[in-house]
Amino acid sequence: RAKEQGKNRYKVFHSGMNIQSYKNFILRNDLRKAIEREELSIVYQPRVDIETGKVRNAEALLRWNHPNWGPVSPAEFIPLAEESGDIMAFGDWILKSVCLQNKAWQQAGYAPIQISVNFSAQQFLQKDLVGSIQQILKETELGPEWLEIEITESTILGNEEIITRTLNQLRKWGIRISIDDFGTGYSSLSYLMRFPVHTIKIDRSFISDISKDASHSQTLISSIISLAHGLHMSVVAEGVETEEQLDFLKKYQCDEAQGYLYSPPVPAAEFEAFLVPALSKATNRKGIIRFEK
Ligand code: C2E
Ligand code: MG
Ligand code: MG
Ligand code: MG
Repeated sequence: RAKEQGKNRYKVFHSGMNIQSYKNFILRNDLRKAIEREELSIVYQPRVDIETGKVRNAEALLRWNHPNWGPVSPAEFIPLAEESGDIMAFGDWILKSVCLQNKAWQQAGYAPIQISVNFSAQQFLQKDLVGSIQQILKETELGPEWLEIEITESTILGNEEIITRTLNQLRKWGIRISIDDFGTGYSSLSYLMRFPVHTIKIDRSFISDISKDASHSQTLISSIISLAHGLHMSVVAEGVETEEQLDFLKKYQCDEAQGYLYSPPVPAAEFEAFLVPALSKATNRKGIIRFEK
């Protein structure tokens, strides 16, 4: 009898799992209509120069507000969009929206910043990726140096030849590239650092370990930083939440930090608080107005 009850409990647990797969079924279906129904939005998280405190980059992150389920995490719906292929349409929409937004900020007179966009493997491996990005840059009239593309290690794995070719083309056009979630895959650091990228983003899991006095992760972080600098790459720490973490990163000359310590990802209107005017009027001793920067 006890065994039977145990079995029943197991069944209850299973029907819970069915709710998850039911939810995924609904979500996968509803995703298709999410763009036209205007349920998707983009939030921006500042990336801060550790030395100067200036914001030169923002990461664009997708948000989905589902009419019944409320906000759905990208960690939940991006994999569904990858399965269904909808990620391709999303990708174009995100890239175009981000470039338009960035151009609008430049035209409003703010000092230009780069915006980083996450690319899934499918998107990055599409035919004529470079051509379609160029098309969007042309349409939106954004300079290529203001766009950064984030790819992960899993995108690189198994596609080394195509990836290297694409990365070189993008670089040639002045587009920036970073490796996201660095250190979470199974590749050796020296293997990953062979790829021609500008920036390495150390995964949040290593940063959160700093506070736990984990000398292992501290050694790893400082090694990544010095290896990257030796190869003229810059390093960003993801998920920086405490002053203690920031102090450690500063000590080892990490270039930039991104995380709740500065700001969570916020809507474009709120992000404007991090932007500064491109031209600041300053008066010199003779009272002549000159322009700085
Ligand atoms: P990611 O690219 O590594 O983005 C960083 C994630 O860390 C974001 O989660 C961000 O909100 C979160 N984060 C930032 N600072 C902190 C912090 O201090 N503490 C903690 N706990 N978290 C922090 P989010 O927005 O939920 O996105 C999750 C993942 O979904 C992203 O990871 C990325 O892989 C994917 N994603 C999001 N937007 C897009 C998109 O437009 N396209 C694609 N292909 N993937 C996306
Ligand atoms: Mg990212
Ligand atoms: Mg990341
Ligand atoms: Mg991630």
